[in-house]
Amino acid sequence: ADREGGAQAGDPGKLAMPRIIAVGSGKGGVGKSTLSVNLAVALARLGLKVGLVDADIYGPSQARLLGTEDEKPVAHDKRLVPIASRWGVPVLSMAHLTKAGQALAWRGPMAAGALTQLLEAHWEDADVLVVDLPPGTGDVQLTILHKFKPAGAVIVSTPQDLALIDATRAVELFAKGKVPVLGLVENMSGYICPHCGEESDPFGCGGAEAEADRLGIAFLGRIPLDIAIRKQSDAGVPVAAGQGAQADAFAALAARVRD
Ligand code: ADP
Repeated sequence: ADREGGAQAGDPGKLAMPRIIAVGSGKGGVGKSTLSVNLAVALARLGLKVGLVDADIYGPSQARLLGTEDEKPVAHDKRLVPIASRWGVPVLSMAHLTKAGQALAWRGPMAAGALTQLLEAHWEDADVLVVDLPPGTGDVQLTILHKFKPAGAVIVSTPQDLALIDATRAVELFAKGKVPVLGLVENMSGYICPHCGEESDPFGCGGAEAEADRLGIAFLGRIPLDIAIRKQSDAGVPVAAGQGAQADAFAALAARVRD
C-alpha cells in the first residue's frame, strides 16, 4: 500500500506517521524502558506491525533490550532505516547512533533534533510506533508531543509515593500537550520470593491504582518485580516474547492499549 502518501525527505509535515503510543514516567528507573519494549513485543504478538523508538536519549537502553546493540542504521532518501530485531519489532535508538557508553550532554534543541531523526525514519510499514520517552517532564518531551501528536500515552510508575507524585506531573505534561492518557501502569508491584514463594511489597502496592482513580484516568495493570524480567532484559530477550505469567501480563496490557 502507498503508505508514504508522497512523503518527501525534508518535508516532515507531509510524512505519513504511524499511530504513536508514547510511554512516559515522572522519574527514571521505574521501568519505563522495560515496559515500552515488552508492550511493543506484546502488541506485535497481537498481530500489529509495531516499531519502537527509544527517545530516552540520555539513557538509551532499547538497543540492548532488543539485542541489537551492535547494529548501525543506514539512511535511505536522507531518512534512517529502522533496525530489524529478532522479536519482529524494528527499533531505532540513540544508542545505535552513538558509541557504546558515550555520554550525551546535549542542550534541548540538539536533543530534539536527534529525536526528530529517529521519529521521521522509515516507519511507513508500522501500524503503531511505541515511543519510549525520556523520564521527567521537560522541554524535549513537550516538543516531541507537540510535533508528533501521539494518539495516546501510557504512564509508568512504581507504587512508591515519590514516583507517584512525579507520575502526576507526567499526566499533566500530556494533558498540556493535548495527548490522551490511556492510563497508568504500576511496575515493580509486589515481589514473589523465588526461594520461599512469599509475596512482599518492597515499594508498596496499589498506590498507582488509587492515584489513577484520583486523577480520573484508567488503571492499566500491574507488573510484579520479577528477577526474570531483569535477567531477560539484560540478555536482550523481552519476557513478553515468551510464555508464562509475565508474558500474559504484558499481553493483557497490550490488549487494553490496542482497544
Ligand atoms: P527506566 O526506563 O524507567 O529508567 P528501566 O526499564 O531501565 O527503567 O528499568 C530499570 C531497571 O529495573 C532495569 O535493570 C530493569 O531490568 C529493571 N526492571 C524494570 N522493571 C522490572 C520488573 N518488573 N521486575 C524486575 N526488574 C525490573
